[in-house]
Amino acid sequence: MGGPPDFKTRRERLVESLKREGYIKSAEVERAFLAVPREEFVTEDNRGYSYADNPLPILCGQTISAPSMIAIMLEEAGIRRGMKTLEIGTGSGYNVALLAELVGQENLLTIERYPELVEWGGGNLARTGYGKVKVIMGDGTRGYEPEAPYDLIMATAGAPRIPKSWIAQTKVGGKIVAPIGSSTFNQTLAVATRMEKEEIDIRWGTPCAFVPLVGVEGWRR
Ligand code: SAM
Repeated sequence: MGGPPDFKTRRERLVESLKREGYIKSAEVERAFLAVPREEFVTEDNRGYSYADNPLPILCGQTISAPSMIAIMLEEAGIRRGMKTLEIGTGSGYNVALLAELVGQENLLTIERYPELVEWGGGNLARTGYGKVKVIMGDGTRGYEPEAPYDLIMATAGAPRIPKSWIAQTKVGGKIVAPIGSSTFNQTLAVATRMEKEEIDIRWGTPCAFVPLVGVEGWRR
């Protein structure tokens, strides 16, 4: 016997601990975490850390978020199958794959500002069976008008405020889930519901530390 446990066993152990600690609450989010192989969304040198509950460095100085943080966001979003969803910040593609399990690939778009990450994250998605998700290169602080309105906009980079275009592109009653803070790497998770007249009702959640959302309606470099 001996040797390290295989990735599937490690994934199951991580999911058990995320449930025990209260991050995963619903059967749907549990099923998604069990279905997506995180080891396929990290760099080669970090494969051994795939199932530690930590963010890990990826390309372009960016990160794949910690599983517990993603679980919090997915649970807060109140996701149902069929929700038209825009993810901002493709990165590795891992969160997109989880969203694909929850809303269905055909209902999902993701946008990324670095061409290298569009290629790498998109490649990770295609290789693992999530190739129907639309991966767009662009500035996600503007949302993505051609396919609006959305039931859900989920950002995985931290913004100084919720961009006006996200509010305009969310259906009345839809949600925006995003880390918002007055400094980079120091945010609070905002769970906003779109009201009439392009207004939102914000509930503030967990403190978090995401890489900055850089763009016209985000941080300026
Ligand atoms: N969802 C990613 C994952 O599962 O790996 C998380 C990636 S990282 C925490 C955030 C990503 O947001 C980075 O890849 C970064 O390049 C991207 N980003 C930052 N500003 C952006 C913008 N204005 N539009 C699109 N993507 C942006």
